[in-house]
Amino acid sequence: MVVVGAGFGGLFATKTLRRAPASVTLINGTTYHLFEPLLYQVATGILSEGEVALPIREIFRGHDNLDIKLGWVTDVDVAEKAVLVSAPDGRERRVPYDSLIVAAGASNSYFGNDGFAEHAPSLKNIDDALELRSRIFHAFEMAELEEDPAARQRWLTFILIGAGPTGVEMAGQIAELAHRALKGQYRHADLAKTRIILVDAADRVLPAFDPPMSRDALRQLSTMGVDVRLNTRVVDVDAEGVKMETADGTERVEGYTKIWAAGVAAPALGQRLAAATGAETDRASRIRVNPDLTIPGHPEIFVVGDMAASNLPGVAQVAMQGGRYAARVIKGRLAGRPLTKPFRYFDKGNMATISRFSAVANVGRLHFRGVLGWLMWLAVHLFYLIGFKNKVTTLMHWVVSFLGRGRPQRVATTQQINARNALTRPTPP
Ligand SMILES: Cc1cc2nc3c(=O)[nH]c(=O)nc-3n(C[C@H](O)[C@H](O)[C@H](O)COP(=O)(O)OP(=O)(O)OC[C@H]3O[C@@H](n4cnc5c(N)ncnc54)[C@H](O)[C@@H]3O)c2cc1C
Repeated sequence: MVVVGAGFGGLFATKTLRRAPASVTLINGTTYHLFEPLLYQVATGILSEGEVALPIREIFRGHDNLDIKLGWVTDVDVAEKAVLVSAPDGRERRVPYDSLIVAAGASNSYFGNDGFAEHAPSLKNIDDALELRSRIFHAFEMAELEEDPAARQRWLTFILIGAGPTGVEMAGQIAELAHRALKGQYRHADLAKTRIILVDAADRVLPAFDPPMSRDALRQLSTMGVDVRLNTRVVDVDAEGVKMETADGTERVEGYTKIWAAGVAAPALGQRLAAATGAETDRASRIRVNPDLTIPGHPEIFVVGDMAASNLPGVAQVAMQGGRYAARVIKGRLAGRPLTKPFRYFDKGNMATISRFSAVANVGRLHFRGVLGWLMWLAVHLFYLIGFKNKVTTLMHWVVSFLGRGRPQRVATTQQINARNALTRPTPP
């Protein structure tokens, strides 16, 4: 068996296959499993990258039937039943399979405007989080150095595009940085003048949540000074700002730090797999699967998590349950007792945090908000974070950052600073 991807879907599939009477190969492009829901805390100086990225080999220590390979799967040879893996040494290797679970996640979509990425990076992996950390903290440093008030204000303006959980969480954290955590640390820049603008084309923040939760989140963001622009589309992004369009016309907002938190698409492998199998895809290039998560005409290939097109949300629980289900189907086939029930998602709820002591959560028909919602958010994330040591150190960092005012993880190395010229903005006229 081959599992592609060690994210939430691949991790749970591989764990479920532990005692299967077969050899399992797990192929992942990085050496670690990434806990994406806490990436925004890496970007805003609360957690270190190691706390959200646990080595795959450590997670699966003791799995005797498992072979772990580092590399990117570039294609699938469905006729010969093999995946093609591009390894860090530049060589391409073939790994044969009888059953294949593909859980390669999603990448970001700029809706055809890929040029925006240079000025408005997104948050999808560790590199993104470290680059954003570098941009955010150095924006405050540049505001301190800058003598021209207009340029200083541009450094103190943060524009977030997309008001889903990532946009809301980033906006909340930048507001906390400016108005609480970094307060009193700068002599020349007045951080009270920090502008945080959260833009979305939808008519409410957190559109995947129940409307009362969206209203609550909006109220909380406004209290924190976040300028929320709804029914507003960003139509252009450059080094110095963005152009926004509403029903009333267009407006330009100046600000050096832009963050893209809107839109997902299937990774390149999704398109290759669709071409190889003839599978249909949706508008975001995600693969349409049968009710048992297999590709039509290919009962040996499963697609789970963010890469599969369905009406389910792109959240970790869908990927975990899908990975576990696919592995159970395979185990059932091996045991001669094929599982006939289709995949059914058990919705455990939805939650997003806005700032310390404030989060919103939908659990069934129940709504939780404020401190209670926040405590639930903390508990759930700590529970699902992989690795005991990571849980302990994460909890310690939360105490430092949320009860105190510490932001211990502010390092940006030269390499990160140089990343995509994070700090070399053109001098404004
Ligand atoms: C910033 C952010 C915040 C989020 N917050 C939340 C949240 O609060 N709650 C929630 O439920 N969900 C959240 N999500 C969504 C959640 O993380 C995803 O739904 C979930 O990770 C999907 O799991 P997956 O297994 O499909 O993909 P992923 O977890 O993304 O894993 C994909 C894996 O495949 C690997 N890979 C990709 N392509 C290849 C290839 N070609 N070859 C080999 N390996 C490959 C990647 O390296 C990765 O390890 C968030 C996502 C992001 C980006």
